Amino acid sequence: MSSYEYIDHTYDVVVVGAGGAGLRATLGMAEQGLKTACITKVFPTRSHTVAAQGGIAASLGNMGPDSWQWHMYDTVKGSDWLGDTDAMEYLAREAPAAVYELEHYGVPFSRREDGKIYQRPFGGHTTEFGEGPPVQRTCAAADRTGHAILHTLYGQSLKNNAMFYIEYFAIDLIMTEDGRCQGVVAWKLDDGTIHRFNAKTVVLATGGYGRAFFSATSAHTCTGDGGGMAARQGLPLQDMEFVQFHPTGIYGSGCLITEGARGEGGYLTNSEGERFMERYAPTYKDLASRDVVSRCMTIEIREGRGVGPNKDHIFLHLDHLPPEALAERLPGITESARIFAGVDLTKEPIPVLPTVHYNMGGIPTNYWGEVLVPTAENPDAIIPGLMAVGEAGCASVHGANRLGSNSLIDLVVFGRAAAIKAGQVVDPKTRNEPLNMASVDKAMARFDGLRHADGALPTADLRLKMQKTMQEDAAVFRSSESLKSGCVRMGEIANEFADVKVTDRSLIWNSDLMETLELANLLPNALATVVGAEARQESRGAHAHEDFPNRDDETWRKHTLAVIGDDNSVTLTYRGVHLDPLTTEGEGGISLKKIAPKARVY
Ligand SMILES: Cc1cc2nc3c(=O)[nH]c(=O)nc-3n(C[C@H](O)[C@H](O)[C@H](O)COP(=O)(O)OP(=O)(O)OC[C@H]3O[C@@H](n4cnc5c(N)ncnc54)[C@H](O)[C@@H]3O)c2cc1C
Repeated sequence: MSSYEYIDHTYDVVVVGAGGAGLRATLGMAEQGLKTACITKVFPTRSHTVAAQGGIAASLGNMGPDSWQWHMYDTVKGSDWLGDTDAMEYLAREAPAAVYELEHYGVPFSRREDGKIYQRPFGGHTTEFGEGPPVQRTCAAADRTGHAILHTLYGQSLKNNAMFYIEYFAIDLIMTEDGRCQGVVAWKLDDGTIHRFNAKTVVLATGGYGRAFFSATSAHTCTGDGGGMAARQGLPLQDMEFVQFHPTGIYGSGCLITEGARGEGGYLTNSEGERFMERYAPTYKDLASRDVVSRCMTIEIREGRGVGPNKDHIFLHLDHLPPEALAERLPGITESARIFAGVDLTKEPIPVLPTVHYNMGGIPTNYWGEVLVPTAENPDAIIPGLMAVGEAGCASVHGANRLGSNSLIDLVVFGRAAAIKAGQVVDPKTRNEPLNMASVDKAMARFDGLRHADGALPTADLRLKMQKTMQEDAAVFRSSESLKSGCVRMGEIANEFADVKVTDRSLIWNSDLMETLELANLLPNALATVVGAEARQESRGAHAHEDFPNRDDETWRKHTLAVIGDDNSVTLTYRGVHLDPLTTEGEGGISLKKIAPKARVY
């Protein structure tokens, strides 16, 4: 029993995370009159979603013909046939309504002359089931789309009386002995108090874990806390081996240059000045999907055609575009290029390199956001009281590779779906049940142990070791050798965490302790990633295995589920991909034949 005193709160719903997914869920819950709290470790509008530049995909058809069926097809193909078909259909079908809803909430989208929402082309988004030309499907607010969405959703959530607990760090889930979720324990960072949140439903919306790698476009706060919390309860993490590298991180800093830059006409060149993507992807060229472009860039560099003194990066050109267009459509990256690369992009190319950007994997859910704990009898069994949405979750709509602008739409479509579901399953008239104190004690004992950790290894040193290992051994291209090495090294690092050293023992603004809790969360995410990757003997989407260069649908068209033991062992099981769409062809849906697996060429 720990000596902490608790401040108690009781809610219908507690959402952990105030990024796009968390805020959309919070708003939807509050709108229906559910008593809703949103807990966030950073101020809501500082969540990583604020950095999303390029836009949000929906088949509005404002810039030419488009349809949700085409969007769905592109998403299926983009996922390299690993996404769940029902979830991908739900995403594409609900996307236009979700975007119009954002518009009505007040998101200041860029406009066409006639006032309709402006849409730009993005990689892998096409017409006519991949047979037609690229489509302009990505709705944008200049190159600050995430910023616009986040501010709007926060304002709307406040208007609907959602309660915000800002700069509270969620430590662990509170679970009953029989595996239902009852709430979370959180630490208030500015005064050191500890809070117990009792909720009928908890929604994890904690974002990705990009910071498990050395070079990532994601914020330093993207530490996979939701995945860590789930893993500590023995819950599985799904498809973690699929990590997206964005083709255009700024060389050196890793800061993102949106795919919208290529959407607006930008292109890549090698040391010979060649637009090499024309060779690899003759139809869609620089707008092939991200995994494809990242691999092509890596091949160019490996074969000695990289640019710069060390021939270790690639150029992105926007210098041929009219400066007025850049100022109107891409003002943010004009600034990023100047600050982070010292480049005036109206005159010079930007040095870029594939950089870790997005985690396709996460906490497995159905398309209502309910967390799955697959069993042999029921692969779609759910945990009562627990949901996951956004990058922390895995619905799975992105499968082995996410298409650009499909994450922002995932946040709002599934944030909204989770709220709809909660409206059905949470009864605001019933009382909350008492919390399982054993679960609270266990969480606080771990917290206290880390607060007083007096080992030999400073958190920052161990974190760096993990980041370098992941960057080296689980990169754009992987091999049996690199992945085996990664499994061994990551296993050692996870074990070394027992010897971590925290120097600050206070509870007020203790960033040393917070970063240690974050490292504790990153580790299971990283372990699941490298172990899942080592086991998957095929190449699919972002998982490019040099010893197994082909996709193997016979054996590997299935989701990986990784459970992390207390001893840092990783146990893998698999779950079948949902193959059937929700609507049949006769109802306007897509035929199974249309989306049957085939070679993925762009
Ligand atoms: C630079 C960049 C640009 C991008 N551009 C695009 C784009 O143009 N289009 C697109 O579709 N996608 C884009 N993406 C991807 C997309 O932005 C992200 O996948 C998405 O924003 C993730 O949203 P989220 O709501 O899941 O999490 P986040 O926005 O990361 O928010 C996580 C929230 O969880 C909270 N949290 C986490 N842990 C805890 C804890 N322990 N306790 C309390 N709170 C916690 C944080 O405070 C935060 O509020 C981009 C990503 C990056 C990095």
